[in-house]
Amino acid sequence: MEVKAPLAHNALNGPMTNVTLKYATRAVPRYTSYPTAPHFDVGFGADIYAEWLQSVDPLVPISLYLHVPFCQSMCHYCGCYTKITKKEKPLQDYADMLVREIALVASKLPDQQLVSHIHWGGGTPSILPRDAFLRVVDVVKAHFTFTSDIEHAIELDPRTVNPDLAQTLHLAGINRASLGVQDFDLKVQEAVGRVQPYAIVKASVEALRAVGIEEINLDLMYGLPHQTRETIRNSIDLTASLNPTRLALFGYAHVPWMKKHQRLIKEELLPDAQERIALFDDACQALADYGFEKIGLDHFAKSDDPLAIAAREGSMRRNFQGYTTDEADILIGLGASSIGKMPQGYIQNSPDFGGWVRSVEAGELPIARGLAMDDDDRARAAIIMSIMTAYQVDIAMVAKDFGVNLDAIRASSYGYLDELIADGVATREGDLVCVTHEGRPLVRLVAAAFDAYLHKGKGRHSVAV
Ligand code: SF4
Repeated sequence: MEVKAPLAHNALNGPMTNVTLKYATRAVPRYTSYPTAPHFDVGFGADIYAEWLQSVDPLVPISLYLHVPFCQSMCHYCGCYTKITKKEKPLQDYADMLVREIALVASKLPDQQLVSHIHWGGGTPSILPRDAFLRVVDVVKAHFTFTSDIEHAIELDPRTVNPDLAQTLHLAGINRASLGVQDFDLKVQEAVGRVQPYAIVKASVEALRAVGIEEINLDLMYGLPHQTRETIRNSIDLTASLNPTRLALFGYAHVPWMKKHQRLIKEELLPDAQERIALFDDACQALADYGFEKIGLDHFAKSDDPLAIAAREGSMRRNFQGYTTDEADILIGLGASSIGKMPQGYIQNSPDFGGWVRSVEAGELPIARGLAMDDDDRARAAIIMSIMTAYQVDIAMVAKDFGVNLDAIRASSYGYLDELIADGVATREGDLVCVTHEGRPLVRLVAAAFDAYLHKGKGRHSVAV
């Protein structure tokens, strides 16, 4: 796939804007997994997960995800699973428990399993005290063998980054860092409860580069209160001046029925659907002007970046962190609430902190929910992955590959596509389904046509644009 154009940069008053507007407020999943997390089964047993772990091939590299669900303060827009602490003891205790969980999971896997990707997310993983963070890294190194080209990535809050932390990250072997920027405008930052002036972000980037961490992603957000086309353009200018290798531009998902603290964001200050589209379009155009290629729904990279290359070569994947070059079929989630993926299905650790601790202390895998995929799930997951990453899919070929009934997929999904096809969002020639260039901002809706769970009523999702 080639994603050179600055994405569906709609003429703002053109017919496609009306189409985008028509669908913009429809709620659909982000499809970082299929089936999506609300459909995982609470009756799923840890014994099944243990069997899955025991079947892993030691020679095929896997990925690890380490979740640290703590932050120093709550950003009003936060959609993550995290809790606030200013004390060190809970962080030290958490690291101790994480160490025990790593050893527990490793004991079910082949000895010295190969690992090619590690991702620290949260929360704010860098909130762990230096000794606690390095303790966890040492245990990971003791139980797993790293490939020579391992990507060891971490999400960072720029407000926590200083030269000491950068040194610690370097010592731990971190080679990619994602910094949450969201927007540089002070009024926007105040409205979302996260004030971090440009100078702080710049100093963070410089501290990381000073220790040799060159792969730096900056995460931006559109759809925030007080954001205007002028402020977002200014934020892109400042972002580009920091010369990141990759960028993400996420739409703020206002879901106060799920995330109560989002009530601190005044709804009347949020841009409406039309303004959201304009903000996104302007930001995309500004990023294109700076030479960033659009990757999938919401990522950007320079043309020589591995993610841009993977997108062009068709090897890009989508996982819980978004678009990725990580091709491993196995992702082991570690830490409270983390989600893992195996060829057999999905597993989620207990989001209940006490439950997670009790299970680990008892020497049991701390699983709260999971889902064993059947052939229909696998076929639809492949279809949705292809739509989300390559904007096209041959349904007949996928049905053949997975040995599922093609007529059943056609019957359950093609009807949902008709309206999107009529509106120019997608095309279908026989069983070849494509998202049109103009329809790309609505790619989640095309994917949703193949989601067999979506109409079963579980889960409320964020808006499509
Ligand atoms: S730092 Fe990130 S995880 Fe923590 S509250 Fe803010 S947005 Fe949420």
